[in-house]
Formats: sequence, C-alpha cells, structure tokens
Amino acid sequence: MGESTNLICECGHEWREELYFDVERRWEGMGTDGLLANAPATCSVCGYKGVARGIIPDGDSQLKFYLKRENSLYFPRGGWKPSSSMGSSIILNPAKELNIHLYGEPSCETLDLGEIAYYLRRKVDNISVDLRDPFFDEDFPSNEDFMKKMAEAKIHDFSNPDFRPSSLELERPFMSEEVAYDGFKLLSASRELLGEDELNTQHIHLIFTNCYFGTWDEKDKRYHLRLSSYGFPSLISTTGIVEAPARPSEFYRMKRKRGEEPSEEQVNGKFLSHNDVRLTEALKGISMQAIFYHLTGEPFCVTPLCRLFNGHWQEEVLESQMDRPEFCSAHEKILENLNKKQ
Ligand SMILES: [Zn+2]
Ligand SMILES: [Zn+2]
Repeated sequence: MGESTNLICECGHEWREELYFDVERRWEGMGTDGLLANAPATCSVCGYKGVARGIIPDGDSQLKFYLKRENSLYFPRGGWKPSSSMGSSIILNPAKELNIHLYGEPSCETLDLGEIAYYLRRKVDNISVDLRDPFFDEDFPSNEDFMKKMAEAKIHDFSNPDFRPSSLELERPFMSEEVAYDGFKLLSASRELLGEDELNTQHIHLIFTNCYFGTWDEKDKRYHLRLSSYGFPSLISTTGIVEAPARPSEFYRMKRKRGEEPSEEQVNGKFLSHNDVRLTEALKGISMQAIFYHLTGEPFCVTPLCRLFNGHWQEEVLESQMDRPEFCSAHEKILENLNKKQ
C-alpha cells in the first residue's frame, strides 16, 4: 500500500504516484503471480479519470498499473492494421471487377452476412460479393506445418510474446472463445489456406470469426485484444467487437458497487453485447474499413462520426456505426471517386 507506482494511461502518458489499492483477487498465470488490484487515478494529460488496474507481484518486481478499461487484463484496443514496414498498400487495378468473399460465423446468431453483402454492393460499384462457409471449421487442413503455425500463433502469456510451453502440442487447431491468437500470426497462417487463384488484389477475403486475437504492443509490453486485423485476408472478430473496445465508465462504476456486471439495458444500451441485434449494422462499417484498407492502404479515419473511425470505446464504436452521417465528407468523396473510376 502507498508504494510509489508506475502508472500508464491509454493516451501514452506515464507517471509515478502513491496509490491506495483495493485488492480484487489473487492472480496467477500469464507470467505473473500476485494480487490483482485497482485504484482510482486521473491522467493529467488527457484528463481521463478511471480505475487503474495492475498486478502486485509476489516478488519485488516493479509495480505497473494501467489506467484503462477496468475489467480486462487484455488491455483492449480497437482495430488493427499492419504498420507500413509490414507490407505495402495494395494498388487496385480498377479495370477489373473486385471480388469480395465473406466467410460466416454461425456461432454469432445476430450476424446477417446477406445484409452485409447487400450493403457492400450498394456502397461500392462493380464488385461481386459471395457468402462462404466458416473459414475455420472442421475441414481444417491437418498437415503438420499448418498445425505448427496455428500452435505458434496461440497467445500463452499476455505479457510475454515469446513464452511457449516446453512442448508445443501439434493439436488439431480449433477456434474457441477460450483461446486468443496473435492477430498477425493468425493472419499469415490463414493466408496459406487461400486458393492460389484468389491470392491476388482482385480478391478481398473477409473472415468473420468468434475467436479472439490480439497484437503485441512494444510500448506497454502487452498484448491488446483487437476487433479486427486488416491484411490479406482480413479478420473480423464477432467476440472482439464486444470485448475489445472499453465499455462506458458507468458500467465499471456499477460493477464495482454491485459486485456484478450490469446488463446492457442498465447502462442504456451503451455497449454491444454478444448476439446484440446491432452487431450486423456495426459490422457493415468494420467491413468497409477492410475494403478501404484494401483499396487505399488506410482503413481508419480520425472523424468520430465516420464509419472508418477506429473506436477504442464501445460508445465510439456505436456512435460511428449507428448514427448519421455514415461517412465523413472526405471519405464520401473518396468513395465517390472510386466508384466513378470503375
Ligand atoms: Zn491520459
Ligand atoms: Zn472518414
């Protein structure tokens, strides 16, 4: 108690402060054993006021607390795109038709791929959109090389990307909500399953999946859960869109007070829940981010009302995806120009 603690805000600001912790429970695994604790804190740079959380380790390693979404150790974020060093943007040959393939996720009951396909056809000219079976299903190839790649993509320790169990099991990979994968490795393993005739810029593969994936952040030495990972193919997580963006602060306040999570209705529908009726509408814009990534190299926009806004909070995701206008004037224009060229 009262020990000087290193605090890191989501905005990137780092400082030290005497914190008075509330211990929540014992924490074991993911590389650290200790006590999971929280303390109220305010960032002097971005002004965010919230509950910082961290682990008080059993040993005497340094205390590090994160001022972020309260209830997750994944320290979640929004969507992800490769940094420019990871690959150049793809320039489309506009003379040819663009083929968009949507792979379904049957475990998400409110995901209506047909409606997303209809939406995309209305927004982008000269495209074909087809609906496909789930990408990750029982027909997974069972060759050793691919299974090894999947095993390596599994996140075993959210604070250590290199940690591997001493024997890596070459188990038949299957997607489950209990496993989280490194988004970049999952993406590159998935790429090898695409048919050679569809491995070119005239094809966009949008894989909807219920699995969790994250990306490693060098700055705060943590994996961050993501709702999407853009590339070739692009991955969109139907669970990530619910769990990755932070919920409104009253959610965490009520949770602390009552000791249990309030429902979506209790916070006036300000966050998406699993099988939320708004998921399909929200995922239309996330699909557009993947298409913009493919066409222009940039999936995101800085305007909060635009569907391409990379919301890190549930309220931001809902505002950008559910409210009018759909796109900011700059992106309306880009879309118009793209459609004119075709
Ligand atoms: Zn801050
Ligand atoms: Zn925009």
